[in-house]
Amino acid sequence: GGGVGRRRVLVFPLPFEGHINPMLQLAGALHGRGGLSVTVLHTRFNALDPSLHPELAFAEVPDGVPPDVAAAGSIAEIIHAMNAAMEGESSPTWTSVRDVLASVVAADEEKPPAACLIIDANLLAVQKAAASLGLPTLVLRTGSAACLSCFLAYPMLHEKGYLPPKESRLYEPLKELPPLRIRDLFYSGQANHEIIREILARAIETVRNSDGLVINTFDELEPPELERIRGEVDVAVVLAVGPLHKLSPVDYAGRSSLLRQDHSCIEWLDTQATGSVLYVSFGSLASMDSDEFLEVAGALHSSGHPFLWVIRPDLVRGSHATTSTRLPDGFERAVEEEGRRGKVIHWAPQQQVLAHHAVGGFWTHAGWNSTLESISEGVPMICRPQFADQMMNTRYVQEAWGVGFELEGELKRGEIERAIRKLMGEKEGAGLRERAEKLRKKVAGCLESGGSSQVALDKLVKYIASL
Ligand code: UDP
Repeated sequence: GGGVGRRRVLVFPLPFEGHINPMLQLAGALHGRGGLSVTVLHTRFNALDPSLHPELAFAEVPDGVPPDVAAAGSIAEIIHAMNAAMEGESSPTWTSVRDVLASVVAADEEKPPAACLIIDANLLAVQKAAASLGLPTLVLRTGSAACLSCFLAYPMLHEKGYLPPKESRLYEPLKELPPLRIRDLFYSGQANHEIIREILARAIETVRNSDGLVINTFDELEPPELERIRGEVDVAVVLAVGPLHKLSPVDYAGRSSLLRQDHSCIEWLDTQATGSVLYVSFGSLASMDSDEFLEVAGALHSSGHPFLWVIRPDLVRGSHATTSTRLPDGFERAVEEEGRRGKVIHWAPQQQVLAHHAVGGFWTHAGWNSTLESISEGVPMICRPQFADQMMNTRYVQEAWGVGFELEGELKRGEIERAIRKLMGEKEGAGLRERAEKLRKKVAGCLESGGSSQVALDKLVKYIASL
C-alpha cells in the first residue's frame, strides 16, 4: 500500500467567500484528480455545511471570534481575533486548535493519517499549532502572485518611505514594483494601517515558515511576479495551480456559497444576444452608499445595454431593506417592460454567468477570484476597486493585461454610462475584447494536459505524497 490513493490532507480556509471557494476547489482537485482524501477544518463563523460535500470530511475548530466583532464584519478584526484565540491552550471551556489538529491528523478505521495541512496565509496561529505537532504545512495564497510579491516588499516599501502612504504621493509609481503606484498598495487609503501592517507581516511569516506555497494564478499570467516570489521565498515548492475553479471537478462556489445562488438568471441570459449583456457584481464584501446605488441604477437603466445586476442584501451601507424597496420607483417595471432589458438578483452563479455567451462585459470590484473568473472566460472588465488587493488587481487588468479599465472618482451616472459605452460599445470595446480573447486562450492552454497548471497540480500531489 502507501500509494497516493491512501494519502490524506487537511485543509483550513479563512472563512470568507473569496478564500473558502479556492480552498475547496484545491481540495476538490486534490481529491478528484490526485486521489487524495481531504478533511476540511472550518469555523463556526461563516460555517460550511458538511452535508453538501459528501466527498470531503469535516471537523469544526473553535474560532473565538466575539459576536460583536463578527457582527461588525471588519475582516481585519476578525482575522486578528481568530489568530489571537487560536494561540490559546485548551481549558474546560475551550478546545485549542492544537488539540483539534492532534485528533484529526490521526488515522482511524476509515482514514489514513494526514500528510500535511494546507492553510490560508492568514492563519499563522494554526501553522504554529501544526508545527508543534510536527505536521508540515503548505500555504494557499488566494490572491495574485503580484499581491504576494507586494506583501514581500512591504518592509522595503516602509524603509524607502513609500509607506505609510501620504495623500500627496498616491499616484507616484513604485519603480520597484511596476506597474503599481503607491495608491494601488493594500489598504493604502485606510485608517487601520497598523493592524493591516501586522496582518501582512504575519501572512509573510506564514508563507516563509511553510513547506510549500500554492498560488491561485498561472505561470503565463504573471511571469515576473512569480519569478520574484521564487527568488525571495526559500520554500521547497512554489506552484501556480490556477485558475482553481477550472481545475476543480466540482463547482464549489455553486454548492457552498454563503449566499444561495439564483439560477433563474441563466434562463434569462439564454434569451439575450451574444455578447450583449453587462454583468454587474461587487463580490461578497464591497458596498456602496444609497446615493451611489441610485447613480448605478440610473446609469444601468439609461445605458441601453441589457444588464444582470447582483444586489447582495448588504450591498447598500446602512440599509437592510429588500431590494425592491431600495431601487428607484418603477425601476424593475421599467427594465422589464423595455423588452426584458435588465435583471436584478441577490447572488449569481457567477462562474456560469461569465461563461455564458450572452455576457459581453463585467463591472466588478476586482476581487481576485472575480478577476480570474472573468479572464478565464475572455470577458473584459470595468473595475471599481475598494480595498485589500482590489486596487492592484485593477492596475494589472488595465496596465499589464489590457483587458479592462478603472472607473475612478465619484460614482456619477454620466461617468458610469461613459464607462459602459467604453466597455460594451462595438468600436470602443474592440481592443479590450481582442486582448481578453487572447488571454482566455492562455488560460485554456494552462489547463490542457501538459499545460502549466496541470503540471503544477501533479507536482503538488507528488510532493504531498513525499511528505
Ligand atoms: N460570487 C458568486 N455570486 C455572485 C458574486 C460572487 O458566486 O453573485 C463568487 C465569485 O464567483 C467569487 C467569489 O464569490 O468566487 C468572490 O470572490 P472575490 O475574490 O472576487 O471577491 P470577495 O468577495 O472576496 O471580495
